[in-house]
Order: sequence, then C-alpha cells, then structure tokens
Amino acid sequence: MPVTSVPPPARNMTSEEIARAVRGAREAGARWRRYPLAERVGLVRQVWDAVYARRAELVKVVHSETCKPLVEFEAMELCAAGLIVKYFTANAGRVLRDQAAWKPWVMLNKRAYVRYVPRGVVGLITPWNFPFLIPFGDAVPALIAGNAVVVKPSEWTTRTMLWVADVVNGTGLLPEGLLTVATGDGAAGRQVAESADMVLFTGSTRTGRMVAQAAAAGLKPAVLELGGKHPMIVFDDAALGRTAKAAVWGAFANCGQVCVGVERAYVEEGIHDRFVAAVTAGMAGLRQGLGGTGVDVGRLIFPPQFATVMDHLEDARSKGATVVGGDVVDAENLMIRPALVLGARPEMKVMSEETFGPVLPVMKVARGEDAIALSNEGPLGLAASLWTTDLDRAERLVETVEAGMVGVNELLSHYAVVSLPFGGIKSSGLGRRHSDSGLRMFCSPQSVLVHEWPSGVGDPWWFPYEDYKSKLVEWILKVV
Ligand code: NDP
Repeated sequence: MPVTSVPPPARNMTSEEIARAVRGAREAGARWRRYPLAERVGLVRQVWDAVYARRAELVKVVHSETCKPLVEFEAMELCAAGLIVKYFTANAGRVLRDQAAWKPWVMLNKRAYVRYVPRGVVGLITPWNFPFLIPFGDAVPALIAGNAVVVKPSEWTTRTMLWVADVVNGTGLLPEGLLTVATGDGAAGRQVAESADMVLFTGSTRTGRMVAQAAAAGLKPAVLELGGKHPMIVFDDAALGRTAKAAVWGAFANCGQVCVGVERAYVEEGIHDRFVAAVTAGMAGLRQGLGGTGVDVGRLIFPPQFATVMDHLEDARSKGATVVGGDVVDAENLMIRPALVLGARPEMKVMSEETFGPVLPVMKVARGEDAIALSNEGPLGLAASLWTTDLDRAERLVETVEAGMVGVNELLSHYAVVSLPFGGIKSSGLGRRHSDSGLRMFCSPQSVLVHEWPSGVGDPWWFPYEDYKSKLVEWILKVV
C-alpha cells in the first residue's frame, strides 16, 4: 500500500449542524458586540497570546495537513498572523471610533458623525494554501469589529482551524460559540455564504462568482479574494542577484501555491540569459521534501492541483517550450520538482491561466513596457512586480499595471504590511482585506445627524415653500 501524507477530506457537517453553529454564533455575537471596543481588543490580544504559546502544537497540525517546511509556516503564516493582530489591535480605537463628518455650513447647528456597527455573523470561506493565516488572520479584525465568525475552511485543511477553535474556546475569553468552524465541502460553504450576514471568501475565481451570487440573492456584502497570475517584469537594468532570488522564492514558496506568487516572468532580452542562468542556479539549491526542517519546497496540498500542474507543463511542451525540472518526484505525496519553462509564449496555459504550483515560465521580451501591456490582457489582476534599478521609471510605470498590488523590486510581502489594502481587480476580486478600510468593512456605517439648537423651530427648507426660499437655496450654494 503506497504511503501518502495527504489526509482525507473533512467530514461534511449536516445542514442542521451548520444552522446550529450559525445560530450559536449569532447569539454569542449579540453579547460580544456590547463589550466596549477596548475590551474586545484586549481579549483578542489574549486569544492570540494563547494560540502563540501553543505554536509548537499548531506547527504539527498544519504540517499534518500540508507538509509545509517549518520556516515557511513560521514566516508566512505565524509571523504574518502576529503582524495582523498587532496592526488591528493597535489601530482599532482610531479606526472604529465615531468619526465626525463634514456638513454644509447651513447645518452649523447640527452634529454629523458615523458609527461603525458590527454586521453580525461573518462567514469566512477559506482555501487550503494557508490554513492558519487566512482564516485566523481574517477572524481577528472581524472579531475586533464586534462580529461573530463562522469559518468554513477547505475540506482538505480543516484540522488547523478546528484546533484553533478548540484552543480559543478553551481560554474561556470569548463568549461560547463566537468563533466556530463549519466543516465540509462546497455545500457547507454555500450554506455559510447564505446564512451569514457578510461573507469574506478567499478562493478561486470560479467559486467566488458562485459565492457572490449567493450573497447577492440575500443582499449581503461579499468581499472576494480570488486567484492571481502575477507577472514579474524584469528590465535590462535589474539588479540580477536580488531579482533572480526573488523569482525563485516568488515562484516556489509554498510550493507555488500562493495567490500573489510569481506565475510568469517577462524578461528583457539584454538580461534574459543571465537571469535564466541565475534562476537555474538558485533552483539547483532548493531542497524538496515532506516539510519540517532542512527543506525549502514541500508538496502540493490539494490533490486535483497535481493534474492541473501536469496539464499546464504538458501544454507548454506541446507548444514548443523547454521544461527544465517539473518531473514527478512522488505522485502519492503530490510532489513535483520545481519547473522552469523556457521559451514560454502567451498562448500557453502557463502564461494565461493560474497554475498554482511550482512552475516558473519565462518569456523573453524586447521591452518591459510591452510586457506590461501583454500581461494586462488577461482577466486576472491580483499582484504584479517590476524589477529595475531605475526606481523613478518603475514608479511611473506602476500606473500602467492592472493589478491590485504592485511591487517594485519586491514581491509577496504586501500581506505582512497590514496597513496596505490587500486584494485584486478584474476577476481577482472585489473589496480588500487589511488596512483601515479592511477593518471597517466588517461594520455597517451608521450615519447620525443630531439637531442641537434651536429646539423650538423647524428648518428653513421645511414647509411652507415660500418664494423667498428659492433665493435662499441659491445663496446657500454660492457660499457653500
Ligand atoms: P476554491 O474556490 O475551490 O475553494 C475555496 C473555498 O470555497 C473552500 O473552502 C471550498 O470548499 C469552498 N467552496 C467550494 N464550493 C463552494 C460553493 N459553491 N460555495 C461556497 N464555498 C464553496 O479554492 P481553493 O481552495 O482551490 O483555493 C485556491 C484558490 O484560492 C486559488 O485560485 C488562489 O489564487 C486563491 N487564493 C486567493 C487569495 C487571495 O487573497 N486573493 C489567497 C489564497 C488563495 P472545499 O475546499 O471544501 O471544496
């Protein structure tokens, strides 16, 4: 019997079990939203402390589902989650307090402000590539904002959030049922999307459309964080050392299963051969294995992804590309050697569809500007990066790049800079996580207008509509 490190998918909770979880969350949320903001912030910070204190166990759970290299988990999931906690706990008071609002001078006797009211139950539907970071990192601002959270993790990586929910509930810090997990496949996700008051979905563009439709039917807000096809655009004057290292890390970190990971490189002719040589040398040093220490690249996490990656490589070969690497190391364990695809062309799947695996296609181009235009033709617009020592030129070009996030000699790190909105345009998503607006999105703004004085009279624009009031309107607009 072949040995596999891929655990079976999670049990499907019945629809009654999910309904009960959502009901429980709603009840817990009704209590939680009445806690003063500062208290919620303090409790979420303590929840993080409790999870972090048990990180040795967390590492094991995540490893049992994903076989990630240890440092990769620590740097990309644990550390990023800690930074999210730090940012939102430090800024919640400023971001969520009532905000005084502008008003026309003629209303000088009134007070206008915005309150941020929790939405209720937030459904987080999450993928398998970052089983801790994505659900936990999104639960933090949702909870701080005063909501309850129901997480529907990928059925392939459910143990991680079950473990987190156990630890959180074990602390007794939060009302029981405030953070809960609905396990199962797409049907469970659909039910969560339909029954929550807001949904934050992270996953493929295809499923994202379905979630958006479910939310639209219930007139509920949906934030969608979807797929990407990061173009790395390398100009002749790029600093070769950093650029080549970035290409190797950007394409093969998390075994290529990163929504903002490098999915294609367009390289100017003058540096192309040196870039390929440096990337090849970098790839030769990668140690692959089933996670833990002493390993740089792990395995695929989602079994059907194996066929997608093989299909994209075969498509590239059949259209004339040279594939270096990309051989199957261990099919049972979903392990494919990192692949460099040379002579890539726009019509190949590796250049036009999300591969989401350890594949770096490289296309030689005459001008980086043309590559930007070419990469803009695709439907996805999540992340992109420009590589050049001419920062002025790069920053001028940023506005021509159709992507929600752009790096200049930089990649994959937007998530950790939590003050930056994270998300995509076009078919890569709708709305943004992180930043101040990524905290406020978990609330509905409530606009309050208070008439302060005089108490006994009506406003001039009320009845009766005397003729002189037309003049009054003109005057108001003139001096507004
Ligand atoms: P999927 O879209 O297949 O699944 C995402 C989640 O949705 C899973 O929990 C899945 O459950 C659930 N789901 C499936 N069908 C439905 C449905 N009809 N209604 C509601 N929920 C449903 O994505 P993957 O898990 O395969 O994740 C990979 C994708 O995620 C890639 O495209 C990647 O780019 C994207 N991604 C985007 C990020 C971003 O921030 N923009 C970050 C990380 C990944 P189940 O798995 O149990 O079927």
